This record gives sequence, structure tokens and C-alpha cells, in this order.
Amino acid sequence: MVTRNFEAVVIGAGPGGYVAAIRLAQLGKKVALVEKESLGGVCLNWGCIPSKALIAAANLVEDVRGAAERGILADAPRVDVARLREFKNGVVKKLVGGVGQLEKGNGVEVIKGTARFVSPTAIEVTGAEAGGGEPLRVEAPAFVLATGARSIEIPGFAFDGKEVWSAREAVDLPELPKRLVVVGGGVIGLELGTVYAKLGSEVTFLEALPQILTGIDAEAVRLVQKGLRQRKATVHVNAKARGFEKKGKELVVKFEVDGAAQSVACDRILVAVGMKPVTDGLGLEAAGVKVGPKGFVEVDAQYRTSAPSVFAIGDLSGPPLLAHKASKEGEIAAEAIAGKKSARDWVAMPAAIFSDPEVAAVGLSEEQARAAGHEPMVGKFAFAALGRAIARDQTEGFVKVVGDKKTGLLLGVTICGPEASDLIAEAALALEMGAYVEDVALTVHAHPTLPEAFMEACKAALGEAIHALNRPERPARADRKT
Ligand code: NAD
Repeated sequence: MVTRNFEAVVIGAGPGGYVAAIRLAQLGKKVALVEKESLGGVCLNWGCIPSKALIAAANLVEDVRGAAERGILADAPRVDVARLREFKNGVVKKLVGGVGQLEKGNGVEVIKGTARFVSPTAIEVTGAEAGGGEPLRVEAPAFVLATGARSIEIPGFAFDGKEVWSAREAVDLPELPKRLVVVGGGVIGLELGTVYAKLGSEVTFLEALPQILTGIDAEAVRLVQKGLRQRKATVHVNAKARGFEKKGKELVVKFEVDGAAQSVACDRILVAVGMKPVTDGLGLEAAGVKVGPKGFVEVDAQYRTSAPSVFAIGDLSGPPLLAHKASKEGEIAAEAIAGKKSARDWVAMPAAIFSDPEVAAVGLSEEQARAAGHEPMVGKFAFAALGRAIARDQTEGFVKVVGDKKTGLLLGVTICGPEASDLIAEAALALEMGAYVEDVALTVHAHPTLPEAFMEACKAALGEAIHALNRPERPARADRKT
């Protein structure tokens, strides 16, 4: 068996692992990056990136459909599924190629194959390109585990890639089913279900909990549901999917609402009920790496596991399951391996949901602020009152800011509306820099732009909004006399 030696080895080339490898190389380490599939992991190949390519294309379809209202006359758009898939594949190819070039340019050696620990400082890599049939032994004083997460499969809905899709198949756009049932009203279900609804499928969402997008601002969720209704999609909440039956070519999905059996017929089923960490086959016992009760690898603030030579980052090390969190953790772990004092210490971890309208949040919500002992002050500004939003004909949504009434510090921001996923960056920066609500209110924002809504919401929290009426605080509805 051939043995290779490195100063650090990263396992898994998603946005956690490939970033860790680059950072390690920048810090002077001789690094290998082991990946069994394609560079970029789920994010670049089957998740964030391809879904955004589809979302952008689906938005274009809707823009063309609604263009006549703004005096642009175009024929009714038709969707060429094969061409759209080609476009999406091109986007993925470009980015995956870019990662390959970055790794090469930084001197990272990419090893294609499947890794398994044989000791805390050695792995065996199997696979065609690893060691010519024989496993390759790779030794290093430090390893970064970044194997990510995979879709959870539930009883009655075994993924077959044909009739029952996981996100991976759905994002590949194998076809445009006439009727699609989406099991799970979480982030993936909403993002991909909305794409199919916009492209022309009749979509039904089944969500087991009392609301879709659990944990997200209730007002934002109401707007997302309104958007789904406008696209002829149906949402069932408190609806537990139990299985499906084939009746000819039709699939009949059975679900239960408050104990009552119901069913819905469709042509394809997308199951998006969460992700679980990928730890099987890694030989974690041989490395001495402990896994917590929910299957995530236990780590400290530098992402070191119970084995001092092994670090774990990204989806593998616990929620939230976000690509940008994985990348940040990759940088921290790499720096820790290089002897730096880096550790998890962020204030702000933004999250963005590419529903329609988009929803993005960072920091504390009003309830979370209250639970954390703050007396919250809240300011809100509706896009319906913002010049740029009106000019874009995208007025649905709002920016809501939460501050601490006593200190005036900004605690959190929720944005629902056009480009919320981009707009949240300013809020994340403000939180990370310890801004006061007043700092944002006093910052001059270019006009006419969408970020003005953040400034106005901060002004509103201070009772100084210019483009909305500032009302004195009203007691909660139940306590009002009028
Ligand atoms: P999720 O946890 O966001 O949502 C899954 C939903 O399925 C939940 O609401 C749950 O109640 C529901 N569910 C579970 N079992 C069910 C059943 N039998 N019948 C009906 N509903 C059922 O999970 P997801 O959407 O699969 O996403 C996985 C992870 O990936 C999440 O952590 C998410 O944050 C992350 N992700 C993030 C983004 C983003 O940030 N834009 C995009 C995609 C995925």
C-alpha cells in the first residue's frame, strides 16, 4: 500500500472543506483535499448554486408573464426544460472548475476517493484515482472532517430518483411534472417547490408542523404563503405525510391532518424533511471522534473533536446547516491547525431563504430578544413605501429591526421582500461591529435604493421615520381600549 504524508488533510470538498484546504495552504501547510464526488460538495453541485440558477430562471419566466402590466409586450413564455437544465449545469461547471483552479493555484493536492480513518493520524482512501486499485494510506498530524449532510429519508417515501425525489433530483430538473407534492415546508421544500410552481407545476406542500418555515418571523411567513397562493400552490399545515400509492401513472400521497386521513394525487413527490450528518463509513471510532446524540460530531470553539488531531466543520458539526457557516468554520479550523488563536466568536450569522418574497434574518427576533432579557424596541418599514421598490414593482415585504431599548444597541434584523438575501449583509455588518440602531439611522443611504428600507426601519424604531408616520407606541392588541 502506498503511503503519502501531508501536514493537514481535509476530507470533503464542500464550502467548508474546500475553504479549509485553501486557508491551510495560505498558512503554509502541505495540504491534501480528499473528495469522492465533485469539488464544491452539495452546495455547488446539488444545492445552493444550482437552485439559485433555477430560481433566477423561474423569476425570469414570471417577469415575462407580468411584463404587459408595465407596458412590455411579449408572447407567453414557454419553458425548455432541457435548455434550462443545460444552463444550470453550465453554472455548476463554471464554479466547480473555479474551485479546482483555486485549490491547484494554492498548492492543494486533490485526491479523488473515499476516506476512512484507520487511526487518529491516518486514513485509507479507496477509489479509482486514489492508489490504482489499492487503497492509498494518507498520514497527517491534522485532519479536517467536512463531509456535510444528506437528505433524511422517511418511511413510505424511499427516494427512487424517478417518482420520489430528494432535493438532489429536484434540482436537476428531470422534468416539469404537472402536479408536484412537496413533503416538508422547510427551506428546501419552499425554495424548490416555488421554482416548480413558477415554471408551471401545480404544487402542494405538506408540512407536519403548524406553520411552514418554522422559526421564521410569522409576518414574513404570511407573505410567503400569500406568494404561494398567488402561484396556485396549496399549503397544508399540521399535515403528516404517511406514504403514497400508485394508481396507474398517478401517485396518491396520503397524509393526516389532526388525525384525519386525507390524500392528494400528483405525478412526482419531492421529500425535503431535513438533513442528517454524514458520518457513516468514516471510521470515526478508529480516530476516537465522538458523535453527539443527534449524530453531529462534537467540537469545541476551534472545531477540534474529541480526538486532538481531528477537526470537524460545517453541517457535520451541527446546525444551522448553512454553507457560509461551514466556510467560516473551515477558516477557523485551518487557523487553529496552523497554531493561531482563532475560535468561533461571531456575533452575526445571517440566514437567507430564497422563497418569494425572500426572507433573511440575522441576530435576535423580538421574541428572542425578550427571552434574552432585553426590553426590545422595534422599528418596521414596509417596501410599499419605498421609491425603489415601487419603481421595481416589488412592494411586498418589510424590514423589521429590533434594538435594546435601554442601550440602543441593534440586536437583530428580519427582512422580507425583494433582494432580502443581499440586503441582510448590511445588517450583519452592523451587528458584527456592535452598531447602535441610531448608527444605521444616521448613515446616509444612496437614493433610490432598497437598503434605504433598513435605514428607515432604524429611524422608525427611534420614532423618526421620514417616509412613514411615526405613531407613539401602542399597547399590545389585547390590552388596547380602542
Ligand atoms: P427543514 O428542517 O428546513 O424543513 C423540513 C420540514 O419538514 C420541517 O418543517 C418539518 O416539520 C417537515 N416535516 C418533517 N417530517 C414531515 C412529514 N412526515 N410530513 C410533513 N412534513 C414533515 O429541512 P430542509 O428544508 O430539508 O433543509 C435542510 C437543511 O438545509 C436545513 O437546515 C436548512 O436550513 C438548510 N438549507 C438552507 C438553505 C438556505 O439557507 N437558503 C437552503 C437549503 C437548505
